[in-house]
Amino acid sequence: MSAQILDGKALADQRISALAGQVERRVAGGGRAPGLAVILVGDDPASAIYVRNKRRACERAGVYSVSHDLPAATPQGDLLELIARLNDDARVDGILVQAPLPAHIDQQTVVEAIRPDKDVDGFHPYNIGRLAVRKPALRPCTPYGVMLLLASIAAEFKGRHAVVVGASNHVGRPMGLELLLAGCTVTTCHRFTRDLASHVGQADILVAAAGKSGLVAGRWIKEGAVVIDVGINRLPDGKLCGDVEFDAARERAAWITPVPGGVGPMTVATLLENTWQAMLVHDAAAG
Ligand code: NAD
Repeated sequence: MSAQILDGKALADQRISALAGQVERRVAGGGRAPGLAVILVGDDPASAIYVRNKRRACERAGVYSVSHDLPAATPQGDLLELIARLNDDARVDGILVQAPLPAHIDQQTVVEAIRPDKDVDGFHPYNIGRLAVRKPALRPCTPYGVMLLLASIAAEFKGRHAVVVGASNHVGRPMGLELLLAGCTVTTCHRFTRDLASHVGQADILVAAAGKSGLVAGRWIKEGAVVIDVGINRLPDGKLCGDVEFDAARERAAWITPVPGGVGPMTVATLLENTWQAMLVHDAAAG
C-alpha cells in the first residue's frame, strides 16, 4: 500500500479563502473585520517564521492584525501590561503570544493573563477545561486542525483506537481530549512510555507530536492506519521533517500528512477561524 497524502496546505488554503469571503461580506455590510494581536518576544528564528506566516494569513483573510515585536529582555511585567491593554481593546478579538518565551518569562502566567474569550490559541485552562467537559469554546489550534484533517477523509472515527505520541499542554493533551470527544479510544504516550512500538502498532489513527525526528519507525505503523505527523524538526541539512519515518510509513498507512505541508498550515487556518469565532462572541456580548 502507498498511503494517500493528507494535504494540509490545500485544506488550509480552502478554509482561509472561505473565511476571507465571510470577512469580506461582513465588512461590505458595514461590520468590522475580526482583529488579532500577535506578540513575538525575542528573535528565535523559527518563531519569527511562524509569526510571519500568521500575519500573512491575516492579510489574506482580511483579518485586522496588530503586531507587537518585543526585545528578548522585555520584563514579564511589561508583557503582562501589554496583554492587559489588548484584553481591553475592543478592536482585538484574539491575542496570540508566540511560544517559546525567553526563560525569564513564565509561559503559564502569560497564558492565564489572556482573557479566555480572546485566547485564540486555546491554551487557557478555561478553554482546555471546556474541551475536557465536552463543551469546547476556543479549541487549541493544532489539535483542532488535526481534527479538521481527519474530518476531511471520513465522517466519523467512533470506536477507532487513536494513539497520541506526546503529552504537552499545547498539543498532546488537548489532542487526546479532541479524539476522545470524537468517540475514539485514546492512548497517550510520552517520554516515560515503555515499548512505544507496541502502542503505535495498535493505532488506527496515529498522531505523532514529540518533536523528535525518526522517533516513530515506519515498520511500526499498522496496515491501513491514518498517520498525522505534528512534529517539526530541522535536520542538519536544513530540511524540515516530522517525527515519523515518512517513506517507510507511507508503505503501510492509508493516509499520511507530509512535513511540511500537513498540520502546520492547518494550525494557521484554525487560528484565524478561532479569531472569527471570538469576534462573533464579542459582537453578541456588545448587543
Ligand atoms: P514538547 O517538547 O512540549 O512536548 C513533547 C512531548 O513528547 C512530551 O510530552 C514528551 O513526554 C514526549 N516525548 C518526548 N520523547 C518521547 C519519546 N521518546 N517517546 C514518547 N514521547 C516522547 O513539544 P510540543 O510543543 O508538544 O511540540 C511537539 C512537536 O510538534 C514539536 O516538533 C513542535 O515543533 C511541533 N509542533 C507543530 C505544530 C504545527 O502546527 N505543526 C504546532 C505545535 C507544535
